[in-house]
Amino acid sequence: MDRRTFLKLGGLIAAAGAAMPASQLLVTSTMASTGTSTKKSLQFAMTVNLNNCDGCKECEKACREENNVPDLQATYGEDAARYTPYWIRVAQMKQDLPGVEERPIPLLCQHCSDPPCVHVCVTKASFVRERDGIVMIDEHRCIGCRYCIIACPFRARTMVFRENPVPRDQQNSKVPAMMLGVATKCTFCAHKDLEAGEIPACVEACIKHMKEVKGKPALEFGNRNDHNEKVARQIADGEVQELRVNLEVKSNVYYLGLSKQEALLEKVLG
Ligand code: SF4
Ligand code: SF4
Repeated sequence: MDRRTFLKLGGLIAAAGAAMPASQLLVTSTMASTGTSTKKSLQFAMTVNLNNCDGCKECEKACREENNVPDLQATYGEDAARYTPYWIRVAQMKQDLPGVEERPIPLLCQHCSDPPCVHVCVTKASFVRERDGIVMIDEHRCIGCRYCIIACPFRARTMVFRENPVPRDQQNSKVPAMMLGVATKCTFCAHKDLEAGEIPACVEACIKHMKEVKGKPALEFGNRNDHNEKVARQIADGEVQELRVNLEVKSNVYYLGLSKQEALLEKVLG
């Protein structure tokens, strides 16, 4: 897809998205796309099993703490929701379909292998990290034009408008303070030693929470090209789904437990 198409698509999505619940931004397929890298030996990926997610939001909390993502809503109240940045958010799937109940769905950057945000970035601040396929942002190059925010089909990017109310000396010193005027998003905790087996903070938090409540973790992370890893097996067995697969962005975040009815959202969106 070329840059013009992405911009056009982004504009349509932005216009529709303003009045649309999170679930209606999602279009699913019955099978995972197999279009991601086969050449690279390392391609990080995540799976989200909605059957296991209880909506506790520990992943959101852990992400904010780990990555210094300011929780402006907690400080300034509900009104700050519209300008509170996030990297992962647990939305409620609200559907207009009979017999389908609301349920939580963690949403984050899908680390697309063909990422619209990278295609539209005028300064090359957004890029795919060659060694592991993580979509990154060079904050120093970002000019805050917001093209990427419009182009992202998953509402995975948000602007940073205000300073973090948490003093710097109480933030995670391993991660830089968030810069103002930057279109931020999840990095899969790229500052961690992921190649050595460390995992993103959201996944850690989910595992910890599920141990406490004697459930199974909803989030898994690993190298999708290493078939010893659970994510690789989950993706390979074809039961996972890509959100909005019709856009062919080649996500590296996959979902389990989306129903066929939910997949019908494709028709809802037209
Ligand atoms: Fe970019 Fe959005 Fe894809 Fe993330 S989900 S890589 S922000 S287009
Ligand atoms: Fe769902 Fe796990 Fe996040 Fe809790 S921590 S909301 S169970 S993904």
